[in-house]
Amino acid sequence: MTKKPFLFDLTFEELTGIITGLREPSYRAKQVWEQAYRMFVSSFDEMSNIPVKLRANLTEELNFSHITPHTDLLSSDGHTRKILFDLPDSSQVETVLMGYSVRRTACISTQAGCALGCTFCATGQGGLQRNITSGEIVEQVLFFAKELNKKEDRLTNLVFMGMGEPFANYNEVMKAIDTLTDSRGFNFGARRITVSTVGIVPMIHRFAETNNQVNLAVSLHAATDELRESMLPINKRYPIEVLMNACRDYVNTTNRRISFEWALIDGVNDSADQARELVKLLKGMTCHVNFIPLNPTRGFKGSESLQKRIDTFRNILEGAGIPNTLRIRRGIDINAGCGQLRQEAQKVQK
Ligand code: SAH
Ligand code: SF4
Repeated sequence: MTKKPFLFDLTFEELTGIITGLREPSYRAKQVWEQAYRMFVSSFDEMSNIPVKLRANLTEELNFSHITPHTDLLSSDGHTRKILFDLPDSSQVETVLMGYSVRRTACISTQAGCALGCTFCATGQGGLQRNITSGEIVEQVLFFAKELNKKEDRLTNLVFMGMGEPFANYNEVMKAIDTLTDSRGFNFGARRITVSTVGIVPMIHRFAETNNQVNLAVSLHAATDELRESMLPINKRYPIEVLMNACRDYVNTTNRRISFEWALIDGVNDSADQARELVKLLKGMTCHVNFIPLNPTRGFKGSESLQKRIDTFRNILEGAGIPNTLRIRRGIDINAGCGQLRQEAQKVQK
């Protein structure tokens, strides 16, 4: 990989250091930051308010871009766009843009692959290539922000639910959030960002202490240890009781609602028993459950739950006063589930 620092990896202070090191006034850093995060330029050369010599020096010193589209797909209904990006080495990440009614949600990857091996997840089935940097996270967001900007539209929500486990790459993810919410630049509202974790307990505690406004979602998918362990290997390390304690700690510390993710898999985790166990876990907690019918993947035999079973399951939660939503699967025809496109690309390459 090239050794030059990458613009989007830099903090504002680091960029200022580079610019003053080039014997330029520090206000130029603010201008460069604005050009990159507000004007969505594609190179230093396009920064029209920056002197030509500084543009040339910056091009010499820094990499402007790390991600290049490898595959670009639009769902048949035109509302979901998914891009598989090549990174400077041979690794790849997927990013999805969903645009329904007034929301423009980008689903961002936080690692190239994932080491945690959840059985039903295409990313988990492919393993981890590497951690990505904060700049590589940020550039996925900017890519879609720029595309929307061309149509005088803008991103409304960001979810860290693409490839990878955000809390296994904690520092880079938090740095990316700092950059994206920086009021001198992209200025994205922390309340419109959601980080999803499979349940890395120490990091949930740490995240609770950060005192930012970012939302937290936890991938639960099962309410008993035996079942959860068979689907999410991380449950051996952080069993449900430990995980739920961390979730309660998060809610108490932050006074914020927590979300739980549950992929409904026919005959696996959609029984009335599981629903009742789930009620026991969540009773009294400020939370919301998001259900999603399983997205089929190559390496997992299960299928999505039948509507009747979904209804019964949700009725049990509703009876106990636990708010929940059934999310619609988006972009199924373009393999929009996380990690599915890389799986396809690797199949073609083989
Ligand atoms: N690693 C994080 C975030 C990325 S996965 C996590 O696990 O939470 C984002 C969400 O998609 C998680 O809730 C994950 O369990 C879910 N998911 C993964 N594969 C899926 C599939 N085949 N069908 C439905 N949801 C899936
Ligand atoms: Fe990793 Fe999340 Fe997929 Fe599990 S569901 S393998 S943690 S990306």
